[in-house]
Amino acid sequence: MRRNPGETEFHQATREVLESLGVVLARHPDYAQDALLERICEPERQIIFRVPWVDDDGCVQINRGFRVEFNSALGPYKGGLRFHPSVSLGIVKFLGFEQTFKNALTGMPIGGGKGGSDFNPRGRSEGEIMRFCQSLMTELYRHIGEYTDVPAGDIGVGQREIGFMFGQYKRITNRYESGVLTGKGLRWGGSRVRREATGYGTTYFVQSMLATKGDSLEGKRVVVSGSGNVAVYTMEKVIQFGGKVVACSDSNGIVVDEDGIDLDLVKEIKEVRRERISTYKKLRKGNATYIEDGRIWTVPCDIAMPSATQNELNGADAKALIGNGCIAVGEGANMPTTPEAVRLFQKAGVLFAPGKASNAGGVATSALEMQQNASRDSWTFEQTEARLATIMAAIHDRCAETADDYGMPGNYVAGANIAGFIRVSEAMRALGVI
Ligand code: NDP
Repeated sequence: MRRNPGETEFHQATREVLESLGVVLARHPDYAQDALLERICEPERQIIFRVPWVDDDGCVQINRGFRVEFNSALGPYKGGLRFHPSVSLGIVKFLGFEQTFKNALTGMPIGGGKGGSDFNPRGRSEGEIMRFCQSLMTELYRHIGEYTDVPAGDIGVGQREIGFMFGQYKRITNRYESGVLTGKGLRWGGSRVRREATGYGTTYFVQSMLATKGDSLEGKRVVVSGSGNVAVYTMEKVIQFGGKVVACSDSNGIVVDEDGIDLDLVKEIKEVRRERISTYKKLRKGNATYIEDGRIWTVPCDIAMPSATQNELNGADAKALIGNGCIAVGEGANMPTTPEAVRLFQKAGVLFAPGKASNAGGVATSALEMQQNASRDSWTFEQTEARLATIMAAIHDRCAETADDYGMPGNYVAGANIAGFIRVSEAMRALGVI
């Protein structure tokens, strides 16, 4: 903490992992040698840079860009870029730390990294967003590459922004290096299912958890926070599995629709019109309600899928969900549940899927995109989704078996942290003190 003052989210993420590791060190004291724990918590490299750009009024704006290259023991750094005014070094470090273990859990050869900027895309024109992306890449390009560091999207960064950044990378380097970024469009090196992958993968994970109790998503009431990339494709897969999504949100308010959320309408609002979720109430015929500043977790449901941002589900929310009979929580976002809320869920016997395991489908499909780029290939939707489903089943089983092995059956938090830690640690030890 003294080394990293003010980095609250980073402290939270490291504490959560380290608390799980006592049982591992008791069984394998050698994992504590050579300052392995200290090294695993220290990023290999942190880059902070100025991003100047000109807005539509001709005024110069300055933002701060970040890339934290956390751990490359398993492969090139891999992790998204986030554009949101809350982005700071502590946020990027927490995300990079989580990403390292998440990527390890996929079983694929990818290290962990994360980046972004405190740029706020909301209300900015397409021209402003393009100029911002170009300026960011004008510095970032020298740090990334197919074999070095491969960024992707995250909050505020979708296919449009990846396109602007890829265009600038190509222009500066004079290389069509498809594998340098993932989340690309289908016509310029992207992979089918990448857009859907995080939400689909989280839903597969929840379905696997429910199956351990002889249950499924069929007929369940589901609440999904957010209405961005992860939320939309979580809702899509929940509906395909026979669940009913009754609420979603953005940072201004929540929509509750007892007839079931009309997903085509949400897609039209978010992906085509790029408007706020409040538009849903205006366009939806029926009984939908919109509640400005509403707490989405007070809406009764069987299954909660937090898919917006960190620490969006706190102890009071957990009590409300448990009181309303919630049986499972699947984290689509990164660290959306506070430590207090996680403890409450576990105590109440609610199935709980930690994001570093359940939302790993996005990065796993990014790794599939890299495979397709490297082999100049393009897989079908069905083939790619089948790979995603297999990967998610393997992550679920790895977490469940590890939790069993360490005497904590059903504790997916411990299972994910331990399994991820062992994979990263073994690679780090094999590579020597670096
Ligand atoms: P998007 O930008 O597409 O959507 C984010 C959604 O969350 C929006 O509805 C946004 O509302 C809402 N939101 C963002 N910040 C806040 C906040 N501070 N308070 C309340 N609501 C907020 O991002 P993604 O869907 O890509 O990412 C969502 C989460 O999933 C993040 O935690 C991300 O790290 C994680 N994730 C994403 C992956 C991916 O493949 N995209 C992969 C793995 C994890 P508004 O429009 O009002 O800001």
